[in-house]
Amino acid sequence: MNIHEYQAKRLLHSFGAPIANGVAVYSVEQAEEWAKTLPGPLYVVKSQIHAGGRGKGKFKELGPDAKGGVRLARSVEEVVANAREMLGNTLVTKQTGPAGKQVNRLYIEDGADIERELYLSILIDRAKGRPAFVVSTEGGMDIEGVAHDTPEKIITVSIDPEKGVTAEDTARINDVYGLSGEARADGETLFPILYKAFIEKDMSLLEVNPLIVMKDGRLRVLDAKVSFDGNALFRHPDVVELRDTTEEDAKEIEASKYDLAYVALDGNIGCMVNGAGLAMATMDIIKLYGAEPANFLDVGGGASKEKVTAAFKIITADPAVKGILINIFGGIMKCDIIAEGVIAAVKEVGLKVPLVVRLEGTNAELGKKIINESGLNVVSADDLDDAAQKIVAAVKGN
Ligand code: ADP
Ligand code: MG
Repeated sequence: MNIHEYQAKRLLHSFGAPIANGVAVYSVEQAEEWAKTLPGPLYVVKSQIHAGGRGKGKFKELGPDAKGGVRLARSVEEVVANAREMLGNTLVTKQTGPAGKQVNRLYIEDGADIERELYLSILIDRAKGRPAFVVSTEGGMDIEGVAHDTPEKIITVSIDPEKGVTAEDTARINDVYGLSGEARADGETLFPILYKAFIEKDMSLLEVNPLIVMKDGRLRVLDAKVSFDGNALFRHPDVVELRDTTEEDAKEIEASKYDLAYVALDGNIGCMVNGAGLAMATMDIIKLYGAEPANFLDVGGGASKEKVTAAFKIITADPAVKGILINIFGGIMKCDIIAEGVIAAVKEVGLKVPLVVRLEGTNAELGKKIINESGLNVVSADDLDDAAQKIVAAVKGN
Protein backbone atom coordinates (compact mmCIF):
# COMPACT_ATOMS: atom_id res chain seq x y z
CA MET A 1 0.00 0.00 0.00
CA ASN A 2 1.23 3.47 -0.91
CA ILE A 3 0.48 6.83 0.68
CA HIS A 4 0.84 10.45 -0.40
CA GLU A 5 3.95 12.52 0.17
CA TYR A 6 2.30 14.75 2.78
CA GLN A 7 1.08 11.72 4.74
CA ALA A 8 4.52 10.12 4.59
CA LYS A 9 6.13 13.31 5.85
CA ARG A 10 3.67 13.64 8.73
CA LEU A 11 4.37 10.05 9.68
CA LEU A 12 8.14 10.55 9.57
CA HIS A 13 7.73 13.79 11.51
CA SER A 14 5.92 11.88 14.26
CA PHE A 15 9.13 9.87 14.66
CA GLY A 16 11.12 13.10 14.85
CA ALA A 17 12.27 13.71 11.26
CA PRO A 18 12.64 17.38 10.25
CA ILE A 19 10.15 18.47 7.57
CA ALA A 20 8.86 21.80 6.28
CA ASN A 21 5.61 23.34 7.41
CA GLY A 22 2.83 22.43 5.04
CA VAL A 23 -0.84 21.58 4.54
CA ALA A 24 -2.77 19.36 2.14
CA VAL A 25 -5.61 21.11 0.30
CA TYR A 26 -8.41 20.02 -2.02
CA SER A 27 -9.52 23.33 -3.50
CA VAL A 28 -8.18 26.67 -4.73
CA GLU A 29 -9.92 28.42 -1.81
CA GLN A 30 -8.20 26.17 0.72
CA ALA A 31 -4.89 26.72 -1.04
CA GLU A 32 -5.29 30.47 -0.59
CA GLU A 33 -6.48 30.24 2.99
CA TRP A 34 -3.56 28.05 4.06
CA ALA A 35 -0.87 29.77 2.02
CA LYS A 36 -1.70 32.92 3.98
CA THR A 37 -0.71 31.12 7.19
CA LEU A 38 2.77 30.28 5.85
CA PRO A 39 5.49 32.90 6.29
CA GLY A 40 6.79 33.01 2.69
CA PRO A 41 8.58 34.44 0.76
CA LEU A 42 8.98 31.07 -1.00
CA TYR A 43 6.07 28.60 -1.25
CA VAL A 44 5.92 25.25 -3.00
CA VAL A 45 2.79 23.79 -4.58
CA LYS A 46 3.09 20.02 -4.88
CA SER A 47 0.73 17.62 -6.66
CA GLN A 48 -0.22 14.72 -4.42
CA ILE A 49 -0.46 11.55 -6.49
CA HIS A 50 0.92 8.10 -5.80
CA ALA A 51 3.80 8.46 -8.25
CA GLY A 52 7.19 10.08 -8.31
CA GLY A 53 8.77 12.23 -10.98
CA ARG A 54 6.18 14.97 -10.41
CA GLY A 55 8.63 17.83 -10.76
CA LYS A 56 9.48 16.82 -14.31
CA GLY A 57 5.94 15.65 -15.06
CA LYS A 58 3.62 17.35 -17.55
CA PHE A 59 -0.08 18.14 -17.27
CA LYS A 60 -1.98 16.58 -20.15
CA GLU A 61 -4.41 19.47 -20.43
CA LEU A 62 -1.79 22.25 -20.31
CA GLY A 63 0.56 21.43 -23.17
CA PRO A 64 4.34 20.85 -23.24
CA ASP A 65 5.40 24.37 -22.21
CA ALA A 66 3.47 24.54 -18.96
CA LYS A 67 5.27 23.99 -15.68
CA GLY A 68 5.38 20.57 -13.98
CA GLY A 69 3.68 19.00 -10.97
CA VAL A 70 5.90 20.64 -8.30
CA ARG A 71 5.99 24.44 -8.54
CA LEU A 72 7.67 27.23 -6.67
CA ALA A 73 5.62 30.33 -5.90
CA ARG A 74 6.77 33.69 -4.55
CA SER A 75 3.48 35.00 -3.22
CA VAL A 76 0.08 33.82 -2.08
CA GLU A 77 -1.31 35.04 -5.45
CA GLU A 78 1.15 32.78 -7.28
CA VAL A 79 0.17 29.86 -5.06
CA VAL A 80 -3.46 30.46 -6.00
CA ALA A 81 -2.72 30.77 -9.73
CA ASN A 82 -0.73 27.54 -9.70
CA ALA A 83 -3.33 25.69 -7.63
CA ARG A 84 -6.00 26.77 -10.13
CA GLU A 85 -3.94 25.40 -13.01
CA MET A 86 -3.06 22.12 -11.33
CA LEU A 87 -6.16 20.92 -9.47
CA GLY A 88 -8.34 18.55 -11.47
CA ASN A 89 -5.81 18.18 -14.27
CA THR A 90 -3.94 15.02 -15.22
CA LEU A 91 -0.27 14.74 -14.42
CA VAL A 92 1.85 12.39 -16.53
CA THR A 93 5.23 11.40 -15.06
CA LYS A 94 7.76 8.65 -15.74
CA GLN A 95 6.02 6.62 -13.07
CA THR A 96 2.33 7.16 -13.90
CA GLY A 97 2.33 5.60 -17.35
CA PRO A 98 0.87 7.48 -20.33
CA ALA A 99 -2.62 7.70 -18.83
CA GLY A 100 -1.33 9.90 -16.00
CA LYS A 101 -3.09 10.61 -12.72
CA GLN A 102 -5.64 13.24 -11.85
CA VAL A 103 -4.41 15.72 -9.23
CA ASN A 104 -7.09 16.13 -6.57
CA ARG A 105 -4.91 17.18 -3.65
CA LEU A 106 -2.10 19.65 -3.39
CA TYR A 107 0.46 20.07 -0.68
CA ILE A 108 1.30 23.69 0.03
CA GLU A 109 4.63 23.88 1.73
CA ASP A 110 7.27 26.31 2.96
CA GLY A 111 10.02 26.74 0.42
CA ALA A 112 13.48 25.63 1.50
CA ASP A 113 16.86 27.25 0.81
CA ILE A 114 18.57 24.29 -0.78
CA GLU A 115 22.34 23.87 -0.72
CA ARG A 116 22.53 20.23 -1.83
CA GLU A 117 20.05 17.51 -2.78
CA LEU A 118 20.90 13.99 -1.55
CA TYR A 119 19.28 10.62 -2.13
CA LEU A 120 18.31 8.21 0.66
CA SER A 121 16.14 5.13 0.72
CA ILE A 122 15.62 2.18 3.04
CA LEU A 123 14.50 -1.14 1.62
CA ILE A 124 14.88 -4.86 2.15
CA ASP A 125 17.98 -6.10 0.38
CA ARG A 126 16.71 -9.51 -0.72
CA ALA A 127 20.11 -10.84 -1.70
CA LYS A 128 21.43 -10.21 1.83
CA GLY A 129 18.12 -10.79 3.58
CA ARG A 130 18.57 -7.56 5.52
CA PRO A 131 17.35 -3.98 5.51
CA ALA A 132 19.68 -1.56 3.76
CA PHE A 133 20.14 2.15 3.25
CA VAL A 134 20.71 3.09 -0.37
CA VAL A 135 22.40 6.49 -0.50
CA SER A 136 23.83 8.84 -3.07
CA THR A 137 25.09 12.40 -3.28
CA GLU A 138 23.19 12.70 -6.58
CA GLY A 139 19.72 13.31 -5.15
CA GLY A 140 16.99 15.27 -6.86
CA MET A 141 14.87 14.53 -9.82
CA ASP A 142 16.79 11.94 -11.82
CA ILE A 143 17.93 9.07 -9.61
CA GLU A 144 16.94 6.55 -12.32
CA GLY A 145 19.40 8.26 -14.66
CA VAL A 146 22.14 8.16 -12.01
CA ALA A 147 21.48 4.44 -11.44
CA HIS A 148 21.77 3.85 -15.18
CA ASP A 149 24.73 6.07 -16.10
CA THR A 150 26.86 6.16 -12.94
CA PRO A 151 25.82 3.24 -10.70
CA GLU A 152 29.05 3.63 -8.67
CA LYS A 153 27.52 6.81 -7.21
CA ILE A 154 24.84 4.76 -5.47
CA ILE A 155 26.06 3.12 -2.26
CA THR A 156 24.33 0.40 -0.26
CA VAL A 157 24.82 0.28 3.51
CA SER A 158 23.52 -2.99 4.89
CA ILE A 159 22.00 -2.98 8.39
CA ASP A 160 22.21 -5.82 10.88
CA PRO A 161 18.59 -6.12 12.08
CA GLU A 162 19.77 -7.42 15.47
CA LYS A 163 21.77 -4.26 16.13
CA GLY A 164 19.77 -1.67 14.21
CA VAL A 165 21.59 1.38 12.84
CA THR A 166 24.99 1.53 14.59
CA ALA A 167 27.27 4.54 15.02
CA GLU A 168 29.46 3.01 12.28
CA ASP A 169 26.50 2.78 9.88
CA THR A 170 25.62 6.41 10.55
CA ALA A 171 29.22 7.51 10.08
CA ARG A 172 29.41 5.58 6.80
CA ILE A 173 26.29 7.26 5.43
CA ASN A 174 27.52 10.66 6.60
CA ASP A 175 30.85 9.97 4.86
CA VAL A 176 29.16 9.03 1.60
CA TYR A 177 27.31 12.36 1.72
CA GLY A 178 30.46 14.18 2.82
CA LEU A 179 28.59 15.88 5.67
CA SER A 180 30.21 17.79 8.48
CA GLY A 181 29.21 20.08 11.34
CA GLU A 182 25.52 20.49 12.06
CA ALA A 183 24.44 18.53 9.01
CA ARG A 184 26.51 15.55 10.21
CA ALA A 185 24.98 15.78 13.68
CA ASP A 186 21.51 15.94 12.08
CA GLY A 187 22.38 12.76 10.14
CA GLU A 188 23.33 11.01 13.35
CA THR A 189 19.84 11.50 14.70
CA LEU A 190 17.91 11.31 11.42
CA PHE A 191 19.17 8.00 9.98
CA PRO A 192 18.18 5.94 13.05
CA ILE A 193 14.81 7.77 13.15
CA LEU A 194 14.06 6.82 9.55
CA TYR A 195 15.13 3.24 10.21
CA LYS A 196 12.88 3.06 13.28
CA ALA A 197 9.90 4.28 11.23
CA PHE A 198 10.70 1.76 8.49
CA ILE A 199 10.80 -1.19 10.92
CA GLU A 200 7.98 -0.18 13.27
CA LYS A 201 5.52 0.58 10.49
CA ASP A 202 6.44 -2.47 8.37
CA MET A 203 7.40 -0.40 5.35
CA SER A 204 8.63 -2.12 2.23
CA LEU A 205 10.16 1.10 0.91
CA LEU A 206 11.03 4.46 2.42
CA GLU A 207 12.49 6.86 -0.11
CA VAL A 208 13.60 10.40 0.66
CA ASN A 209 14.56 12.11 -2.57
CA PRO A 210 15.75 14.66 -1.99
CA LEU A 211 17.08 14.75 1.50
CA ILE A 212 18.40 18.30 1.52
CA VAL A 213 21.22 20.16 3.16
CA MET A 214 19.90 23.68 3.60
CA LYS A 215 21.86 26.89 3.34
CA ASP A 216 21.80 27.08 7.15
CA GLY A 217 23.60 23.73 7.29
CA ARG A 218 20.68 21.64 8.52
CA LEU A 219 19.12 18.49 7.02
CA ARG A 220 15.46 18.23 5.99
CA VAL A 221 13.24 15.57 4.45
CA LEU A 222 11.98 17.39 1.34
CA ASP A 223 10.19 14.56 -0.45
CA ALA A 224 9.07 11.22 0.94
CA LYS A 225 7.67 8.15 -0.68
CA VAL A 226 6.54 5.27 1.50
CA SER A 227 5.14 1.83 0.65
CA PHE A 228 3.88 -0.55 3.30
CA ASP A 229 3.96 -4.32 3.31
CA GLY A 230 0.34 -5.25 2.60
CA ASN A 231 0.67 -8.45 4.63
CA ALA A 232 1.41 -6.46 7.78
CA LEU A 233 -1.40 -3.90 7.46
CA PHE A 234 -3.58 -5.82 9.91
CA ARG A 235 -1.40 -4.54 12.73
CA HIS A 236 -1.37 -0.92 11.57
CA PRO A 237 -4.93 0.46 11.58
CA ASP A 238 -3.44 3.98 11.64
CA VAL A 239 -1.71 3.29 8.33
CA VAL A 240 -4.83 1.75 6.76
CA GLU A 241 -6.61 5.06 7.56
CA LEU A 242 -4.21 6.80 5.16
CA ARG A 243 -5.30 4.68 2.21
CA ASP A 244 -6.52 6.70 -0.78
CA THR A 245 -8.50 4.23 -2.84
CA THR A 246 -8.94 6.74 -5.68
CA GLU A 247 -5.24 6.15 -6.40
CA GLU A 248 -5.64 2.39 -6.63
CA ASP A 249 -6.84 0.04 -9.33
CA ALA A 250 -10.60 -0.59 -8.80
CA LYS A 251 -10.16 -4.26 -9.66
CA GLU A 252 -7.42 -4.66 -7.06
CA ILE A 253 -9.61 -3.04 -4.39
CA GLU A 254 -12.46 -5.42 -5.23
CA ALA A 255 -10.05 -8.38 -5.13
CA SER A 256 -8.70 -7.34 -1.73
CA LYS A 257 -12.25 -7.53 -0.31
CA TYR A 258 -12.21 -11.25 -1.08
CA ASP A 259 -8.64 -11.74 0.05
CA LEU A 260 -7.53 -12.61 -3.47
CA ALA A 261 -3.91 -12.08 -4.47
CA TYR A 262 -4.57 -10.03 -7.60
CA VAL A 263 -2.42 -7.62 -9.58
CA ALA A 264 -3.73 -5.91 -12.72
CA LEU A 265 -1.37 -6.00 -15.72
CA ASP A 266 -1.38 -4.60 -19.24
CA GLY A 267 -2.09 -7.71 -21.37
CA ASN A 268 -5.33 -9.26 -22.63
CA ILE A 269 -5.41 -12.82 -21.26
CA GLY A 270 -7.17 -13.03 -17.92
CA CYS A 271 -5.69 -15.71 -15.68
CA MET A 272 -7.26 -17.61 -12.81
CA VAL A 273 -4.74 -19.84 -11.12
CA ASN A 274 -4.16 -21.36 -7.69
CA GLY A 275 -0.78 -20.96 -6.08
CA ALA A 276 1.60 -18.07 -6.66
CA GLY A 277 4.21 -20.32 -8.31
CA LEU A 278 1.75 -21.77 -10.78
CA ALA A 279 0.38 -18.27 -11.43
CA MET A 280 3.89 -17.03 -12.27
CA ALA A 281 4.54 -20.05 -14.50
CA THR A 282 1.23 -19.46 -16.27
CA MET A 283 2.12 -15.84 -16.96
CA ASP A 284 5.53 -16.88 -18.25
CA ILE A 285 4.16 -19.45 -20.64
CA ILE A 286 1.56 -17.03 -22.01
CA LYS A 287 4.42 -14.67 -22.81
CA LEU A 288 6.44 -17.54 -24.30
CA TYR A 289 3.64 -18.11 -26.80
CA GLY A 290 3.60 -14.44 -27.74
CA ALA A 291 0.74 -12.96 -25.71
CA GLU A 292 0.51 -10.94 -22.47
CA PRO A 293 -1.36 -11.70 -19.24
CA ALA A 294 -4.01 -9.21 -18.11
CA ASN A 295 -3.43 -10.00 -14.47
CA PHE A 296 -1.75 -12.08 -11.84
CA LEU A 297 -4.34 -13.93 -9.78
CA ASP A 298 -3.78 -16.52 -7.13
CA VAL A 299 -7.16 -17.66 -5.77
CA GLY A 300 -5.33 -19.35 -2.92
CA GLY A 301 -5.20 -22.82 -1.48
CA GLY A 302 -8.64 -23.26 0.03
CA ALA A 303 -10.79 -20.85 -1.97
CA SER A 304 -14.57 -21.08 -1.59
CA LYS A 305 -17.06 -21.05 -4.43
CA GLU A 306 -17.87 -17.41 -3.55
CA LYS A 307 -14.23 -16.43 -3.82
CA VAL A 308 -13.86 -18.12 -7.20
CA THR A 309 -17.05 -16.43 -8.41
CA ALA A 310 -15.73 -13.04 -7.29
CA ALA A 311 -12.40 -13.67 -8.99
CA PHE A 312 -14.05 -14.65 -12.25
CA LYS A 313 -16.25 -11.55 -12.16
CA ILE A 314 -13.26 -9.29 -11.63
CA ILE A 315 -11.53 -10.83 -14.65
CA THR A 316 -14.56 -10.64 -16.95
CA ALA A 317 -15.34 -7.05 -15.92
CA ASP A 318 -12.00 -5.92 -17.36
CA PRO A 319 -12.66 -4.68 -20.93
CA ALA A 320 -9.02 -5.39 -21.86
CA VAL A 321 -9.55 -9.13 -21.33
CA LYS A 322 -9.99 -10.91 -24.67
CA GLY A 323 -9.68 -14.46 -23.37
CA ILE A 324 -9.53 -16.30 -20.04
CA LEU A 325 -7.30 -19.11 -18.94
CA ILE A 326 -8.19 -21.10 -15.86
CA ASN A 327 -5.27 -23.21 -14.73
CA ILE A 328 -5.87 -25.18 -11.55
CA PHE A 329 -3.78 -27.83 -9.99
CA GLY A 330 -6.07 -29.16 -7.29
CA GLY A 331 -4.42 -29.98 -4.00
CA ILE A 332 -6.24 -28.54 -1.03
CA MET A 333 -8.25 -26.65 -3.66
CA LYS A 334 -10.71 -29.01 -5.27
CA CYS A 335 -11.33 -28.76 -9.02
CA ASP A 336 -15.10 -29.21 -8.65
CA ILE A 337 -15.25 -26.12 -6.41
CA ILE A 338 -13.49 -24.11 -9.11
CA ALA A 339 -15.88 -25.47 -11.72
CA GLU A 340 -18.93 -24.55 -9.65
CA GLY A 341 -17.58 -21.06 -8.96
CA VAL A 342 -16.94 -20.42 -12.62
CA ILE A 343 -20.40 -21.60 -13.65
CA ALA A 344 -22.07 -19.49 -10.97
CA ALA A 345 -20.16 -16.45 -12.20
CA VAL A 346 -20.94 -17.07 -15.86
CA LYS A 347 -24.62 -17.41 -15.03
CA GLU A 348 -24.51 -13.98 -13.43
CA VAL A 349 -22.34 -12.04 -15.80
CA GLY A 350 -22.24 -14.08 -19.03
CA LEU A 351 -19.19 -15.08 -21.02
CA LYS A 352 -18.24 -13.00 -24.05
CA VAL A 353 -14.65 -14.17 -24.58
CA PRO A 354 -13.02 -17.58 -25.17
CA LEU A 355 -12.38 -19.62 -22.04
CA VAL A 356 -9.73 -22.32 -21.79
CA VAL A 357 -9.78 -24.53 -18.72
CA ARG A 358 -7.11 -26.88 -17.48
CA LEU A 359 -7.99 -28.85 -14.36
CA GLU A 360 -5.62 -31.31 -12.79
CA GLY A 361 -5.32 -32.97 -9.39
CA THR A 362 -7.99 -33.39 -6.70
CA ASN A 363 -11.45 -33.99 -8.17
CA ALA A 364 -10.26 -33.05 -11.67
CA GLU A 365 -12.62 -35.52 -13.36
CA LEU A 366 -15.58 -34.22 -11.39
CA GLY A 367 -14.63 -30.63 -12.23
CA LYS A 368 -14.38 -31.41 -15.94
CA LYS A 369 -17.74 -33.19 -15.82
CA ILE A 370 -19.41 -30.19 -14.18
CA ILE A 371 -18.04 -27.87 -16.84
CA ASN A 372 -18.82 -30.21 -19.75
CA GLU A 373 -22.43 -30.63 -18.59
CA SER A 374 -22.93 -26.90 -17.99
CA GLY A 375 -23.41 -26.11 -21.67
CA LEU A 376 -20.72 -23.45 -21.47
CA ASN A 377 -18.56 -22.85 -24.49
CA VAL A 378 -15.30 -23.94 -22.91
CA VAL A 379 -12.15 -25.29 -24.52
CA SER A 380 -10.57 -27.88 -22.30
CA ALA A 381 -6.84 -28.42 -22.20
CA ASP A 382 -4.70 -31.33 -21.04
CA ASP A 383 -1.68 -29.61 -19.60
CA LEU A 384 -0.16 -26.17 -19.05
CA ASP A 385 1.54 -26.04 -22.43
CA ASP A 386 -1.57 -27.10 -24.31
CA ALA A 387 -3.69 -24.62 -22.32
CA ALA A 388 -1.38 -21.69 -23.03
CA GLN A 389 -1.22 -22.44 -26.77
CA LYS A 390 -4.99 -22.73 -26.97
CA ILE A 391 -5.77 -19.45 -25.20
CA VAL A 392 -3.11 -17.54 -27.14
CA ALA A 393 -4.50 -18.92 -30.42
CA ALA A 394 -8.03 -17.99 -29.30
CA VAL A 395 -7.24 -14.34 -28.51
CA LYS A 396 -5.25 -13.99 -31.71
CA GLY A 397 -8.29 -15.30 -33.60
CA ASN A 398 -6.84 -18.45 -35.09
P1 ADP B 1 9.24 14.61 -7.38
O1 ADP B 1 10.33 13.73 -6.85
O2 ADP B 1 7.94 13.89 -7.49
O3 ADP B 1 9.62 15.32 -8.63
P2 ADP B 1 9.92 16.43 -5.17
O4 ADP B 1 9.13 16.64 -3.94
O5 ADP B 1 11.19 15.67 -5.02
O6 ADP B 1 8.97 15.76 -6.28
O7 ADP B 1 10.21 17.86 -5.79
C1 ADP B 1 10.98 18.04 -6.95
C2 ADP B 1 12.01 19.12 -6.73
O8 ADP B 1 11.37 20.33 -6.36
C3 ADP B 1 12.99 18.82 -5.60
O9 ADP B 1 14.07 18.03 -6.08
C4 ADP B 1 13.40 20.22 -5.18
O10 ADP B 1 14.43 20.72 -6.00
C5 ADP B 1 12.14 21.05 -5.43
N1 ADP B 1 11.37 21.22 -4.18
C6 ADP B 1 10.44 20.38 -3.68
N2 ADP B 1 9.96 20.81 -2.50
C7 ADP B 1 10.60 21.95 -2.22
C8 ADP B 1 10.59 22.89 -1.13
N3 ADP B 1 9.78 22.74 -0.07
N4 ADP B 1 11.40 23.98 -1.22
C9 ADP B 1 12.21 24.15 -2.28
N5 ADP B 1 12.30 23.33 -3.32
C10 ADP B 1 11.50 22.23 -3.31
MG1 MG C 1 11.44 13.59 -5.25
